Amino acid sequence: MTAIKLQAGQDRYEVLIGPALLDQIGALVRPRFAGKKCAMIADAAVVPLFAEPVCRSLRAARFSPELFPVTGGEAAKSMTEAAALCEKMSATGLDRTSFVVSLGGGVIGDLAGFVAAIFLRGIPYVSIPTTLLAQVDSCIGGKTGVNSAAGKNLIGAFHHPALVLADTEALRTLPQRIWNEGFAEAIKHGIIRDPQLFEIAAQPCSFLPNDETSWKVALPLFIERNIRIKAEIVAADEREHADVRSLLNFGHTIGHAIEYAAGYGNFLHGEAISLGIMAAARVSVRRAGLSLGEADKIAAALRVHQLPTTLPADFPREKIFEALPRDKKFEQGRIRFVVVHEIGRASISGEVTMEDLRAAVDAL
Ligand code: NAD
Repeated sequence: MTAIKLQAGQDRYEVLIGPALLDQIGALVRPRFAGKKCAMIADAAVVPLFAEPVCRSLRAARFSPELFPVTGGEAAKSMTEAAALCEKMSATGLDRTSFVVSLGGGVIGDLAGFVAAIFLRGIPYVSIPTTLLAQVDSCIGGKTGVNSAAGKNLIGAFHHPALVLADTEALRTLPQRIWNEGFAEAIKHGIIRDPQLFEIAAQPCSFLPNDETSWKVALPLFIERNIRIKAEIVAADEREHADVRSLLNFGHTIGHAIEYAAGYGNFLHGEAISLGIMAAARVSVRRAGLSLGEADKIAAALRVHQLPTTLPADFPREKIFEALPRDKKFEQGRIRFVVVHEIGRASISGEVTMEDLRAAVDAL
């Protein structure tokens, strides 16, 4: 097991990475929380897989977990769902000494973290990410929230977890498509910060469940490397006031707009980000001197993991442009777009025009 200590603003928390963490949760959180009750907000699809060992471990440590299954998928990230969970938590007597456990992928992590941020003006939460995407990216950083009719993640709060348990054994049950989408965010981390990580993420998958060394050694190291990059960026600019944290949005301006235009759930998040990365790489060739050779390497890395690099011909492209101005990266009508100069070096550009974005979307 690897333990990483993170500092973000006033908050300190630990991320544990390794096998068999789920069933140690009780012992791991007992020293942190005095209260008895906790709300386990879990993706209904993972409840039959992992809820039982997590609850058993919590009970063994004298906690009383209340299970709240949520039908997963992007539609679950809504104010309606968040409000319903808060009501149910009040009804079962959770109080300010209680905590939330999130069990699922990035959707449940964002939703449960948001519920923890607003319930009784904020109670702690423990995150158990069960997708590759959530382990390499969304489980840390403190961005929690839900979608609104106007777009992705437009309602939310900064609220860091008290503890993250990235149990690599939980990834064994991932369907191929969901496993693949996790690489979009890892490739992004490589593009913006770490050429070596990019090279690792660009390989056909070397983390084979039936190869003990690759699964038990290489996979945790890969997750750790991603978490360290994100943590370093978040520590430098927790609330995205400077231009540092915004670098994590590489590929997300157009990616989020594609998710909105497609209708939430039609593309997985990582798939939409793959398309957003393609578009951002094209903009970077025009505006930031990215070489065509490196843009091709980026496209090849995405394709290695069967991630989409083109949009279907009949995709409602105009809807992408409806969503763009509502993106948080648009300020007073100006676009602050993340561009990459070479793999490993990115920056924010104020030079990118709507025309550049149109050309990049047309090319998808
Ligand atoms: P997800 O949570 O929808 O999970 C994908 C699918 O995997 C779901 O159908 C789920 O039921 C299933 N699943 C989860 N764990 C499983 C397991 N172990 N075995 C089998 N099936 C399993 O999607 P995701 O890709 O994990 O997360 C995407 C979300 O994360 C998006 O909403 C995105 O906005 C958010 N996100 C947030 C941040 C952040 O910093 N807060 C960063 C990146 C992405």
